[in-house]
Amino acid sequence: MGNLINNELVYTVKDRCRVCYTCVRECPVKAIKIVNGQAEVISERCIGCGNCTKVCSQKAKSFIDTTPQVYDYLNSGEKIVACVAPSFPAEFSEIEDYKLFIGMLRKLGFTYVVEVGFGADIVAKEYKKTIDDPNSKKFISSDCPAIAYYVRHYHPELIEYLAPIVSPMVAMVRIIKHKYGKDLKTVFIGPCIAKKAESSEVDQVITFAELRNMFNNANITSDNTTPSEFDPPIAGKASIFPVTRGKLHSINKSDDICDENIIVASGRIHFREAIKEFEEGLNKSQHLELLCCEGCIMGPGMTNSNKIFTKTTHIRNYVRNKLLNFDTAAWKIEYDAVKDMDFSQTFSSADRRIPIPSPEKITQVLESIGKFNLSDHLNCGACGYDTCIEHAIAIVEGLAETEMCLPYTIEKLHNSVKDLNLSNEKLASAQQSLKQSEKLATMGQLSAGIAHELNNPLGIITMYSNILKDEAPADSPVHKDLELIVEQANRCKKIVGGLLNFARKNQVNLIETDIFKFTQHSIDSIIAPENVTIELKSTLTNPYAYIDNDQWMQVLTNIEKNAIEAMPNGGKLTLELNETNGDVEFCIGDTGVGISKENMDKIFTPFFTTKPIGKGTGLGLPLIYGIVKMHNGQISVDSNAGEEAGPTGTAFRIKIPRTKNL
Ligand code: ADP
Ligand code: MG
Repeated sequence: MGNLINNELVYTVKDRCRVCYTCVRECPVKAIKIVNGQAEVISERCIGCGNCTKVCSQKAKSFIDTTPQVYDYLNSGEKIVACVAPSFPAEFSEIEDYKLFIGMLRKLGFTYVVEVGFGADIVAKEYKKTIDDPNSKKFISSDCPAIAYYVRHYHPELIEYLAPIVSPMVAMVRIIKHKYGKDLKTVFIGPCIAKKAESSEVDQVITFAELRNMFNNANITSDNTTPSEFDPPIAGKASIFPVTRGKLHSINKSDDICDENIIVASGRIHFREAIKEFEEGLNKSQHLELLCCEGCIMGPGMTNSNKIFTKTTHIRNYVRNKLLNFDTAAWKIEYDAVKDMDFSQTFSSADRRIPIPSPEKITQVLESIGKFNLSDHLNCGACGYDTCIEHAIAIVEGLAETEMCLPYTIEKLHNSVKDLNLSNEKLASAQQSLKQSEKLATMGQLSAGIAHELNNPLGIITMYSNILKDEAPADSPVHKDLELIVEQANRCKKIVGGLLNFARKNQVNLIETDIFKFTQHSIDSIIAPENVTIELKSTLTNPYAYIDNDQWMQVLTNIEKNAIEAMPNGGKLTLELNETNGDVEFCIGDTGVGISKENMDKIFTPFFTTKPIGKGTGLGLPLIYGIVKMHNGQISVDSNAGEEAGPTGTAFRIKIPRTKNL
């Protein structure tokens, strides 16, 4: 039994763990390791306090079930003693008469049912001897097994201060064996998990929670049970033991700040503080009366771990009623019969401390979670550790993970979201370009084929119609018809030329050009009606950029012409030249009719035009698109065609790298 602490006294129910780090935070000895986001109890480090089982809202921490062994005893025909911890009135408060509770235990099959409270009477008196002796060494109380494990594991230098007195449970087991014979099986029933690993002198330990299950399984209730009294020896005043200060109260002592030399500390924070200060020599003139829980009534083996004051009241009422008709003489006889027995025990070191890593290692880990200066140490406690340094140490020790740092993880997450958005945008734009390029490539091949085939017959038509026109007298009607044929044939040639231009996988001939002057020149080369004003603005500090002059002239003039055609009633055409991160940007906006939403997707498609036959070919923008791409640039368009959304108009934005390194 004494070795149980190394055999998973407390464990994680993995499916239930939701990685909130509450168990890490609440574990007084950091015996919880996070591996791949899952909390695992490290048995060697655990002191069995069971705090994690109490605080986990998901019930992901559980403790070893020892009822199967108890069933084996009950079925064995041997004599079994139920040693009931004095906290039972706080657990079974719904049973009005405690004698019914005893009857239920007997019905379950226990031969004897005894009160560990009598063991507490004995232990309290042993402590009193030490407290009353002014020359005695100061002690750290050892009756809470979690405290004893804590000292043995984490403060082995203080072992000599652990009171060499057995716990009430062990005292009671010794007394029972003395009174009823050695061939008994003893089962301690109480609120504590650490008790399961405390001593090999007791045969089994179950919690009140486990006992309740046994009652339920056997369908034993207070209604179908006859009352019965505890087997002697009957406990006295120390029945108040499970309440904080209970032990002291039972021997008329207190932690009175003026008169006494005892410091009482209970609960996971205070007991550690008390030991730390004791070790530092700050309170070595004081005895330490310590409990890992806020009194045994708050132990993890109770089915309801809250309501400390109600539980205290239940214990008080039980003790008060008990003492009303107390047979002091009978108690004295029992006491005298055992008072000279040996109630001592010794403790050995079981050092579980991990050496503190070097400052360099700690700094390295701190930096890996974004803590470069002291001001970065938020010490928010979200990871379960009190400080960032403690968390970093735990990471080095392999107990914790960097992801547990919430501020760091949130920042990482934000960055990932940003990156993801960026790549999404890039992907969407690449997808669109790809679609457009594919479309253009297909159209290009088709157009090139058609244009090539048409070129020869068209050449012949033009040549012969010109010859015929020249031969026909200038005033004849045939001359006029031939003139029309020549004109229309030339128009066809222009369209075919445009098609070839668009289809040709052109090479660009980049030349360093003053693009301000170049743009001005493009404006000069178009004919703008009077009612259209044109403005050219530039914020460029350096006007030079590499462009293919012929092709770029087509880009600008095509856009300018489109803009002018979109402003039949006049308006304003604005050309702006700006620079962004090494790129130059052409922004060409008009106050024209705009492009409707449904047409926005189509304007770069070859042959898409909204203009009347003979006016538009629908090849301008696809051509521009191809040229911009060949300049390794980007083209985008914003437009509003509905007056309800504000002034109408269109703006083309073209960005190209300024340099030649495409
Ligand atoms: P085209 O000018 O021969 O029609 P484009 O490819 O140059 O062919 O333009 C395609 C279509 O895009 C035009 O017919 C027109 O509907 C629309 N468009 C282009 N630029 C503008 C603009 N500045 N304002 C309004 N619509 C425009
Ligand atoms: Mg056009």
